[in-house]
Amino acid sequence: MKTKPVKVKNTIIGGGAPVTIQSMTNTPTDDYGATLRQVLDLQGVGCDIVRLAVSNSKEVEVACKIASEVTVPLVADIQYDYRLAVACADGGMSKIRINPGNLGGRDKLLEVAVACKRNDVPIRVGVNAGSLDKSVGTLDGIAKALTKSALDNLSLLESVGFDDLVVSVKASNAKVTVDAYRMLAAKCNYPLHIGITESGVGLSGIIKSAAGLGSLLLDGLGDTVRVSLSGDPVDEIDIARRLIRAAGRDINFCEVISCPTCSRCSFDLASLAVKVENMTRHINRPLKIAVMGCCVNGIGEGKHADLGIAGSSDKAIIFRDGKILKTIPMLGADEDFVRVIDEYIAIS
Ligand code: SF4
Repeated sequence: MKTKPVKVKNTIIGGGAPVTIQSMTNTPTDDYGATLRQVLDLQGVGCDIVRLAVSNSKEVEVACKIASEVTVPLVADIQYDYRLAVACADGGMSKIRINPGNLGGRDKLLEVAVACKRNDVPIRVGVNAGSLDKSVGTLDGIAKALTKSALDNLSLLESVGFDDLVVSVKASNAKVTVDAYRMLAAKCNYPLHIGITESGVGLSGIIKSAAGLGSLLLDGLGDTVRVSLSGDPVDEIDIARRLIRAAGRDINFCEVISCPTCSRCSFDLASLAVKVENMTRHINRPLKIAVMGCCVNGIGEGKHADLGIAGSSDKAIIFRDGKILKTIPMLGADEDFVRVIDEYIAIS
């Protein structure tokens, strides 16, 4: 679904632009050194947009100073005080995240909208299930209430003449989140910031995010993604990138597929697949590589890949379109195979 494009500094969210990846710092925002380091770490691993919680005037000052020193766009996350939002918009932050209903009335919201407009700063309306009235009850009720709250808040900003908007409706339940975003997408065309909030730690949080965000991305929904995990936000970036790629929303990379192995496999396929994946990580064009566990079935099963390798205990076969290109020793097969991949890229 093509949404309205929204410009955040030098980055576009929506309008058919590539899906961007976001994260949020978890250092005290008024700790200039620690927060700058974390913003730079996130920028360094390819995070497209970084959000900082801003809760007082000292944090406004630090956040705006950092915004002037980094290339990645920074978002000020404001909970209640509209004056902080105005100061952040005037001070050089690239986007403001608010829940308009929390700002204390239409006049205050108008001041924020005016400040954002004069600085060309968009606003994300961010609604979370945790801030809904408990009476919404069932999961279906929560999804509907999230959608309604987001639409009401968007209308509030539109009513003061502001429509440079991104919207999110997050819950910690994947199904609630997916249902809410689907309902929202049917009713507005603002870009969707998608995320599962409080998804959890480690693998549990990754899998929940993959279930929820993956469903949305496969639907064609989601213009910018945050994988929210407890821990170092830098870890979120690679997970978000892999998720976007697995859903087919970014095809400019080398996809390494590998068979699950069975008793026909007589070498350490998992190690070879990991080595090939690491050695092809820099490729930024569409390419599919198969790493298969035996020469009996591997060549046929991997023929839909651009190139493949099927191993045995002492030799490996490199194949293309299901046809054998060459046979090489297993020892050093990873490097030989990557050389063939590089030659393939050079001529195709
Ligand atoms: Fe088993 Fe060979 Fe198929 Fe891998 S490619 S699953 S080793 S039959």
